[in-house]
Amino acid sequence: MANHLSKPSHTTERKGSASGSEAIDDYLKAIFQLGGPPEDLVSSTEIAIHLSITPASVTNMLQKLAAQEPPLVIYKKHHGVKLSRSGKKRALEIVRHHRLIETFLHQVLDYPWDEVHQEAERLEHFISERFEERIAAKLGHPEFDPHGHAIPAMDGSLPHQQPRSLSQLRPGQSAKVSSVSDKDPEMLRYLAAQGIRPGVRLTLSEQLPFKGAYQVRIGTSTKSALLSHSLAEAISVAVK
Ligand SMILES: [Zn+2]
Ligand SMILES: [Zn+2]
Repeated sequence: MANHLSKPSHTTERKGSASGSEAIDDYLKAIFQLGGPPEDLVSSTEIAIHLSITPASVTNMLQKLAAQEPPLVIYKKHHGVKLSRSGKKRALEIVRHHRLIETFLHQVLDYPWDEVHQEAERLEHFISERFEERIAAKLGHPEFDPHGHAIPAMDGSLPHQQPRSLSQLRPGQSAKVSSVSDKDPEMLRYLAAQGIRPGVRLTLSEQLPFKGAYQVRIGTSTKSALLSHSLAEAISVAVK
């Protein structure tokens, strides 16, 4: 691998307006998250919904990203889009910033876990590579953020995970929470109040039909919680 590829380069790439570069970051991150580990093609509609913008402006931006030198995405009209090598590298850098910032805010500045995502969404675009390294060192190079999401290493590598949502468990089955979605602060507060966080073992005691409530037992206690379908979908578990 050429030497310049192994070094963070976006600080020099960002010559346009700050907002232009932030918008690019958000697109790359969205494609990265929606495509998942198999790196499937992502449709413009999915991106539009994810970023709450019109499909027309998504198409526009995807064409721009594909025309960059080197291209940041591979865009097949009517089929969808995926990240190119440099697009993926940049997406992973932003994800690393995001998750490190969340961990820093939570561990060092005592932010509750439901407040760190919004701050990180803003700050992720602006921190320097030096600042990022200092945060990582201060925290002892953490592997996971407060929501249980893996923090990409400096070289962009991520541990291999096969996330499965709690909604996929069968009654009687038990699993450990690996991560929870960090998008909705209210949901995070609810889960915290129930004692549900990464590392906690849950047993699905009952699931009402037609996507009804999920009743889970928490840890080895007799305490249980009722979760809606969307909550169950927002919790990733590892079955072991
Ligand atoms: Zn977040
Ligand atoms: Zn997070």
